Amino acid sequence: MNSTEIVQLSTRFEELEPEELLKWAIERFGSKLAIVTSFQNEGMVILDMATKINRDFRVITIDSGRLHEETYAFMQQIDAYYGINIEVQFPDSKEVQEMVSKHGINLFLKDVDSRLTCCYVRKVKPLLRVLRGLDAWVTGLRREQSVSRNNTRKIALDYDHEGIVKLNPLADWTHKEVLDYMERNDVPQHPLYAKGYTSIGCAPCTRPLQIGEDRRAGRWWWETGAEKECGMHCEIEQ
Ligand code: SF4
Repeated sequence: MNSTEIVQLSTRFEELEPEELLKWAIERFGSKLAIVTSFQNEGMVILDMATKINRDFRVITIDSGRLHEETYAFMQQIDAYYGINIEVQFPDSKEVQEMVSKHGINLFLKDVDSRLTCCYVRKVKPLLRVLRGLDAWVTGLRREQSVSRNNTRKIALDYDHEGIVKLNPLADWTHKEVLDYMERNDVPQHPLYAKGYTSIGCAPCTRPLQIGEDRRAGRWWWETGAEKECGMHCEIEQ
């Protein structure tokens, strides 16, 4: 798709419900479309909506190698619940080995640059590899989640991933709308939410929220002044 077409669609899609946008995307891209999810609430809403349309799309998750045990169990449960074949993409083992030999297994605790290196090797590069060959991907990003996400469009060309189409059907949804949908539709929820987590990523870099904290404060909580992003949804200087 070219940028003119995307600009026209972007205006039209602002008025569409997420289900309408997903239906359009599945019909347009079919098996060249992937829903990329880490099984947080937003990703579960997208999966639930999409599987009610048809199954002619791919579902992909990135296993950084440092996920919570609960995430693996939930992944297995979701695979069976929706009858989908979740594709798990791993980091390159040689790259992980080299990084760990050079910087240590918990390099992310040293400083922000080391943390971004870890995210780059374990998450960003596997995503880059898996998106190659696809025409479009879907995420559960919402504008309300953080300052770095408040310009999220429902459709855009993703120049961080070879200019393929990126769809964010829940961009204008609130946290409450996500929870209301899950309740109305009996959508399974990742078990760590019940333990106080509000944003779920790798085990060593995610903790439950403390009272009064921002919803993404449980990610890389020891850092100050750095964006709470890993680089999968925005370019981060390396
Ligand atoms: Fe590494 Fe933490 Fe990033 Fe996971 S979230 S890839 S463990 S730095």
